[in-house]
Amino acid sequence: MARYCDSVCKLCRREGEKLFLKGERCFSPKCAFERHPYPGGMHGRQTKFRRKESDFSLQLRAKQKARRVYGVYERQFRRYFQRAQRQKGLTGTNLLVLLESRLDNVVYRLKFADSRPQARQLVRHGHLDVNGSKTDIPSYLVKPGDVISVRELSRQKAYFKEMPQELDGGQVPPWLSLDAAGLTGTVVAAPARDDAGATLNEQLIVEYYSRR
Ligand code: SF4
Repeated sequence: MARYCDSVCKLCRREGEKLFLKGERCFSPKCAFERHPYPGGMHGRQTKFRRKESDFSLQLRAKQKARRVYGVYERQFRRYFQRAQRQKGLTGTNLLVLLESRLDNVVYRLKFADSRPQARQLVRHGHLDVNGSKTDIPSYLVKPGDVISVRELSRQKAYFKEMPQELDGGQVPPWLSLDAAGLTGTVVAAPARDDAGATLNEQLIVEYYSRR
């Protein structure tokens, strides 16, 4: 599958807001969006001021933003949408709950990583166990009762050695619990709509897929 290899800061500039894809750098003056808060390219600055957004454009941007926040490609995102449609309840809410339940997102929410792309890499490199078994699939969907922990061998690595002190006292969302000393998190409940953040507009995403 093709991978996005260009600068992720371009994605923030395109979406017109910070998507926090680069960890610490996003909170520093080096953040590209702080310095250039308009889309890249020769006409980016003009686009920001001239463009009158159509309904389709707003729907497309809402869908693209959600995809980029969670690091999901189009085909997989569409599958999440179809799965959300088959579930009971509101499709938009179901979609965001599915995205929040991804293992790489949970690793990010537990603060084992500074960003979702970094969390994805930790999972892909096999540093995490789910319920005691090595799991290296970022799209694995967690469920209440699942226990996510840093693997025994990985705890010896410099990246994880200082982590218990850094995590101590840190806040995690209410649907997760964290044992900082044990580098272990537990899913205590399914995530709710509000856990996905207010900047995502699931209604526009539903409208986007409904018109095709
Ligand atoms: Fe986006 Fe972070 Fe890059 Fe800033 S530093 S533009 S928030 S990815």
